[in-house]
Amino acid sequence: MTPKLFSELGLSPEILKGIDKLGFEQAAPIQAAAIPVLMSGKDVVGQSQTGSGKTAAFALPILQRLIPGVRGKLRALVVAPTRELAEQIHEAFRGLGAHTGLRSMTIYGGVGVGAQLAGLRSGVEIVVACPGRLLDHMGQGAVNLSAVEVLVLDEADRMFDMGFLPDIRKIVKRLPAQRQNLLFSA
Ligand code: AMP
Repeated sequence: MTPKLFSELGLSPEILKGIDKLGFEQAAPIQAAAIPVLMSGKDVVGQSQTGSGKTAAFALPILQRLIPGVRGKLRALVVAPTRELAEQIHEAFRGLGAHTGLRSMTIYGGVGVGAQLAGLRSGVEIVVACPGRLLDHMGQGAVNLSAVEVLVLDEADRMFDMGFLPDIRKIVKRLPAQRQNLLFSA
């Protein structure tokens, strides 16, 4: 596939600024292929290896979607199997979205709940979560999922192997029926 410039993908100037700052010059093939489809609002099931540029392939269209619309509500939920992956995804949103004013945070177990509760109360638009701790927060009424319009299940195959399917079902049940769904496996 011929390389594509990010500027040809219909992304907003504030997003292009974030891309530029990270030093990305051209869209990776998965990005050139996936970004237009994701921006059309379609559900997508994708298979890709780590290192292919998959994270930006879904993060960029999500940022683009969230720029208009309400701020201060959780509108994009990314569920990932491990803390490390959750942090990586969060960092991608932070870098790519640095000029959008959109805010992202992580939720996972093994660390205190205080900072997570404060983050949730502050009204972030993007949450990147591991299933167990997200369910804990849901059980405490600490997270409001009623405005979620995009769900990403990243490394879904690994989450299913790890036995997270029942947890994911419980999470999905609490999301608005009308939403965009993105599922990625390795
Ligand atoms: P991922 O496959 O999403 O884990 O991304 C792998 C690495 O490639 C990450 O460190 C990204 O920052 C980097 N990356 C993603 N897209 C691009 C791009 N278009 N140009 C250069 N580096 C990129």
